[in-house]
Amino acid sequence: MSIYKKLLFETLFEESTDGLMILENGKCIECNQAILNTLGVKDKNLLYGLLPSNISPELQPDGQKSSLKEKKMMRFALIHGSHNFDWVYTGRNGEDVWVDVTMTPITMDQQDIVYVSCRDVSRRKKEEKKLLEEKEKLYRLAHNDALTGLPNRLFFIERLKQVTSMAKRHRRELAILFMDLDRFKEINDSLGHAAGDKVLCEIATRLPGVIRKEDTLVRLGGDEFVILMENLFDKTDAAILAKKILDVLNEPIYIDGHILYVSGSIGISLYPENNGSIDNLINCADTAMYKAKAKGRNNFQFHSNDLTEIANERVGLEEKLRQSLNNDEFLVYYQPQINSENGELTGMEAFVRWNHKNTKIISPSKFIAFAEETGFIVPLDQWVMKKAFTQMVQWYKMGYNPGILALNLSMKQLRREDFIFRLKSMLKETGCKPEWVSLEVTENQIMPNLEKVFDTLTQIREMGIKIAIDDFGIGCSTLSRLKDIPIDKLKIDQTFIKNLPHNKNDISIIKAAILLSKNLNIDIIAKGVETEEQKRFLTETGCMHMQGYIYAKPMMASKMEEMFKIKCHNTLDMEQ
Ligand code: C2E
Ligand code: MG
Repeated sequence: MSIYKKLLFETLFEESTDGLMILENGKCIECNQAILNTLGVKDKNLLYGLLPSNISPELQPDGQKSSLKEKKMMRFALIHGSHNFDWVYTGRNGEDVWVDVTMTPITMDQQDIVYVSCRDVSRRKKEEKKLLEEKEKLYRLAHNDALTGLPNRLFFIERLKQVTSMAKRHRRELAILFMDLDRFKEINDSLGHAAGDKVLCEIATRLPGVIRKEDTLVRLGGDEFVILMENLFDKTDAAILAKKILDVLNEPIYIDGHILYVSGSIGISLYPENNGSIDNLINCADTAMYKAKAKGRNNFQFHSNDLTEIANERVGLEEKLRQSLNNDEFLVYYQPQINSENGELTGMEAFVRWNHKNTKIISPSKFIAFAEETGFIVPLDQWVMKKAFTQMVQWYKMGYNPGILALNLSMKQLRREDFIFRLKSMLKETGCKPEWVSLEVTENQIMPNLEKVFDTLTQIREMGIKIAIDDFGIGCSTLSRLKDIPIDKLKIDQTFIKNLPHNKNDISIIKAAILLSKNLNIDIIAKGVETEEQKRFLTETGCMHMQGYIYAKPMMASKMEEMFKIKCHNTLDMEQ
């Protein structure tokens, strides 16, 4: 190459307005003034020997690590002959410097090098960012209600489109609750629009307190609000929320020295039940809302009449349960647990009974599942715990030895953050000793939640309270996992006892469970033992602890005291 040409190329390289770099083994071996200007670096020597990622933030805006992305880009350039992409360097003052990069691998003097040209696009990127922010601001202004700050109709329609298509894909159900305030016009007419606005704002601050985190609250305009409930567990969940909304609306509102009483009418439509278009869903909720108005306001209605009836029953049941708890209409029954070898009482299990209006004793099988679903199980179990702890203390004080008290515990309770705190306070308040207590959690509830409750179980055991796995055998859990769980006792489910000693499969399961408990060095107890044959088989096979009608049905505390006085070799005729 002539000296002229060499000079020409050198000048072109040096004077180019694009930043240029030559990389060898990924590191800079040459560069021009423009790249120094772009990066704010004074001397070329400061760049020599550096990888591009050495002068870049750790992460690129697309989330990739700079050190990994540069290798990936280099590979792409080698495969395709050249490669163009966005890159961010770190400028002199630590700011992001956006460049548009083109990498071209070339061979010179049998040496593979990469020619890199960078165009500074920081200004353009900054403008784009500003534009985006302004667009988002405009979006917020357009999609939010100026008075309450809640999302508005436009937002609602967009969101509804998204969630219905998601619900369709994942086969989930959702509900729309359309709420219109009753006689809101009267407030506006009598107290003025400013007072009306304050009422709307008050409602907009109350409602988020009753909806779930994943629900969307929208003000459609005027006195109309909408709640979009996603992932319905049960259709009637929408009714439970509607009831909560009506209750929170009914609380008095204090405005400008006035006490106002507000109510609302709610219409509910369901997806995919009230299928069809989005318009159809909204219309169904709207029609249902007018039905609620026609039924005397301050109530909710589903689009389908049948559902309204079922939902009302459910809401009614929850209300009845809560009222009964306040009125002390629950009882605790106790069922003895016996050592079959010597007939001695080893403890008892506490069961709740609903003494509805003090006229009829209702079994837990009628309401425990519902209480679990609605969360009522939490206050109910707390109540049972307190009652049973107090009873234990009383029995010990009376000189009896009631053994260990077993309490059924819902997973909902165990997963509460304050559970340990509450348990400790309850022990302290009642004077019950931890070593008198064993907590039962069913295998079905514990296994899927093991990671979440592991620490809690460990803490419970550290306090001196025992843990038993209830309904053992029906949960099909991996037996090998049992050795890692902090437990003290297995409770064999009644299904395996029922057909003893005739069913071969049940016999094998019982024997395996007994062996397992021996190997893990934990206790084992059989429940639902009803016949002499079952009792004999279990005793001979090595499961001496049992509970069941053969000894006694669950009974009131006063009857239990009779048990303390006698040995339990014979079946006792006790009330249920
Ligand atoms: P569980 O813990 O498996 O209790 C055993 C159930 O079997 C009890 O029914 C008991 O009365 C009954 N039983 C006992 N021995 C025999 C027998 O020999 N034969 C037959 N056929 N049944 C027997 P109950 O009292 O109706 O309780 C049902 C379930 O409700 C309990 O099952 C427990 O899971 C739940 N439960 C009861 N009380 C409470 C409570 O206070 N809190 C919680 N979370 N759950 C409770
Ligand atoms: Mg139990």
